[in-house]
This record gives sequence, C-alpha cells and structure tokens, in this order.
Amino acid sequence: MYFLLTISFLKFVGVTFAAPPNTLEHPSKNEVNPYDFPFVTRSEWKARMAKQTQPLKTPVPYVVIHHSYTPGACTTKVQCIKAMQNMQNFHMDDRDWWDIGYNYAVGGDGAAYEGRGWDILGAHALHFNSVSIGICIIGDWRSELPPKQQLETAKALIAAGVKLGRISSEYKLVGHRQVRDTECPGDALYNEIKKWDHYSDHPTCTGDLLTMPEISDKVKDVILGNSTYDD
Ligand SMILES: [Zn+2]
Repeated sequence: MYFLLTISFLKFVGVTFAAPPNTLEHPSKNEVNPYDFPFVTRSEWKARMAKQTQPLKTPVPYVVIHHSYTPGACTTKVQCIKAMQNMQNFHMDDRDWWDIGYNYAVGGDGAAYEGRGWDILGAHALHFNSVSIGICIIGDWRSELPPKQQLETAKALIAAGVKLGRISSEYKLVGHRQVRDTECPGDALYNEIKKWDHYSDHPTCTGDLLTMPEISDKVKDVILGNSTYDD
C-alpha cells in the first residue's frame, strides 16, 4: 500500500516510469514488464556486464533490422536465452566489443530480449550505429521467414521505442545490407521488412551514407578512409 502511494505521489510530482530500467548494473528481483509483449531483461538472460558503454543520442532516426545467421532460430525461452548468451560471448570475446552488439533481439518464442537497450550506442551496423537502434531477429532468414509472432513482436518493440521517445516518430526502417556490404538480414527477411511501415529504400549502400545529413563528418571521414574509429 505504501509502495502504491509512493508511486502515485511520484507520478503526481511529475516523475514517470516510462523508461524500462537498464538492469545492467542493478538487476532487480521484482522487475515489471513495461511492454505489451513478452520481454526478457538482461538479468533474466544472465547477461554479462558490459565492459564499457557510450550513450546513444535519441530519438534515433533509423531502425536497422538484422538476422543472427548463427545462432539459428530458437523456439523456446531456454533456447533463446542460450542464443543471447552465445551472441554476447562471441561479440565480447571474439570480436572484442564492449557487450552484445544489438540494442535488442527478438526470439522465435515471440519475446523481445534486451541487448544494449534504448540508451546505449550499439555495435551492429558499423557507420550507422550512432543514428540507429539495431534489432536482431534471431535465426537464419536467407530462405525462410521467421514465425509470425517473432515478426509481430519486432514491430511492437519498434512501436514501443517510438512511444518512449527513443525512436523518432518519423523513423526509417532499413535492412543491415543497406548500410554495409553484408547479406544480413537474409533475403527472405529483407523482402518481408520491405513491406513494413516506415521501410526506406535509401540508403542503398555505404556510399550513400556520404550524402546523408544524419551521418557525422567524422564517420564520413572513416568511410572515405581518411580516419579510423580508433583515433
Ligand atoms: Zn546484421
């Protein structure tokens, strides 16, 4: 009762609870799913702590869709948790990144899995990380389509990002292959997302990034080979 009164009071004085907690350093035992779709927090999938983080400037103007390729599709929470752990280990240990690269992933169990979250810069689309949220649709979607529920949750996650003010309401949706030389997110999934709201056929390749106002001069210098991200 006291707890509810406290919440009411905080709401009354203008404190809101719109943002889902980043459970990275402070896992809570009483997490409440703030979304209208199944959601698995970092602490629930037992994420390792990020080595470092950098803030992402939001709302971002782009959403980038990926497939994992490997690990392949997962259909249960247990399998999807394993996939998240495998991706995080691969990104942190083999690629030497700070954390799992994606901001979020969506499993074949229909749940969204918290990656870096809305407010942390991702490592999923090289030159495009600072202007986008990266969502990985777990599985290899070169010739097969993900289950309907997996796609519906991905769409609901994007809608939640817009509602929370982390994704621009005017956002553009692109496949990873449009900003980097890669087959990701697989032909079948790519053809699917072309039908989604907000899909944009621009950019078509890394070269197009040089003409985009959203892309910083520093990034353009890296694309042109005049600089590197280690500078
Ligand atoms: Zn990708």
